[in-house]
Amino acid sequence: MRIVLMGAPGSGKGTQSQRLVERFGIPQISTGDLLRSAVARGTEFGVRAKAAMDAGHLVVDEIVLGIFRERLAERDTERGFILDGFPRNFAQAGALTTLLTGIGKPLDAVVLFEVDYAEIVKRISGRRSCQKCGRVFNIHTAPAGTAPHCDVCDDKPLLVQRADDEEATVRRRLEVYEQQTRPLADYYAAQGLLRTIDANASVDEVTRRLITLLESLPAQRPLRNAS
Ligand code: AMP
Repeated sequence: MRIVLMGAPGSGKGTQSQRLVERFGIPQISTGDLLRSAVARGTEFGVRAKAAMDAGHLVVDEIVLGIFRERLAERDTERGFILDGFPRNFAQAGALTTLLTGIGKPLDAVVLFEVDYAEIVKRISGRRSCQKCGRVFNIHTAPAGTAPHCDVCDDKPLLVQRADDEEATVRRRLEVYEQQTRPLADYYAAQGLLRTIDANASVDEVTRRLITLLESLPAQRPLRNAS
């Protein structure tokens, strides 16, 4: 299964991707995670991407496409993948279509997460992540006693708030989403790939809706090179 999860920052794409990884055994490819890792490692891409990320702007396509291509070339993507936070503009969407068509592995669906603005602001303000394993938690929904420590890692490291989850930066990221990313819904609708879910619900309920939707997709489109 090859899918894109699309939605505003804080719409739950990352959290739901983690659950789909467990359910379907295919990897999540989050360009945000890849970029944060490049920044943390101080790679050339990371150094160039940092200022845009800190300001809540999109990182230039050349860098994003570079790290995305590298990740897609890894073997674990052969059975499928969940794209989280990519593509984010028309240039990236076009490049993705060309790339996947070229290897005979088109997308099966693009799922748009619809969430009210007030709910997004609440979710982002409560979002915390583990710097060690990358898991995302939310202090508003975590069972009492689990936050602010990671309950997945053995040594229970303290959870931290992402620098770009600060309020002014969040506002900028929402604007960028509305202007550059959300219009991609029409692009994918025209290709018959768009599915929409109401994501104004608990994490478990959204997972249930998402799995129902994905399991009801038509059988996957045949691979061009399949014999
Ligand atoms: P995310 O974790 O997906 O919210 O991404 C965090 C930040 O990384 C974004 O605000 C952008 O600065 C950058 N970023 C992530 N994915 C992309 C992308 N596909 N294109 C451009 N910038 C991106």
